[in-house]
Amino acid sequence: MVKIFTEKSGKRMFFVNHAGKSRLNSMLQPLVTADMLLKINDDGLSYIDDFQDVQVYKKINADLFALSYATYVLALADASIHDNQVDPALFAFLEKTLLLMEEGLDYEVLTNIFEIQILSRFGVILNLHECCFCHRVGLPFDYSFRYSGVLCPDHYDRDERRAHWHPNVLYLLDQFQAVRFIELETISPQAEM
Ligand SMILES: [Zn+2]
Repeated sequence: MVKIFTEKSGKRMFFVNHAGKSRLNSMLQPLVTADMLLKINDDGLSYIDDFQDVQVYKKINADLFALSYATYVLALADASIHDNQVDPALFAFLEKTLLLMEEGLDYEVLTNIFEIQILSRFGVILNLHECCFCHRVGLPFDYSFRYSGVLCPDHYDRDERRAHWHPNVLYLLDQFQAVRFIELETISPQAEM
């Protein structure tokens, strides 16, 4: 049995005969994408009829750190949807994230973006963009758990137990929350306030 995240049918379990000897063997590894012809049974086991364009992520697999981040991203995606739940947006975001890791973009940054995006799918939207009190933007903010949002320097005193995080971290998290695919390649962790 193998679990595959498909674009059109969500997460599914597939039955494979004699996996060790099968032509499918090359594909039945973690972290592989392919175009597959599938026989989907909603009530029982599903089968892989045929496949092509197998893509392995060579650079990720060759780098232990990149591999552990990629594995974590896959686990997050796995945990965030139910079996058989179709989610082409998550599929596309996952595929894009892995592709950018493979191309050598900073895997820590990519993983942060992925985490923030997954959080927002669960309805957790943190206000990291404007001060909870005066709604000004672009200031060296600190985070307040009490208000679930950021405070500007003029309003730091509204929460005596504010987080004392570096403003740069909050700036980046705010960027990650709003990021779209097209922007992924231009995000840099060196952005300065
Ligand atoms: Zn303020």
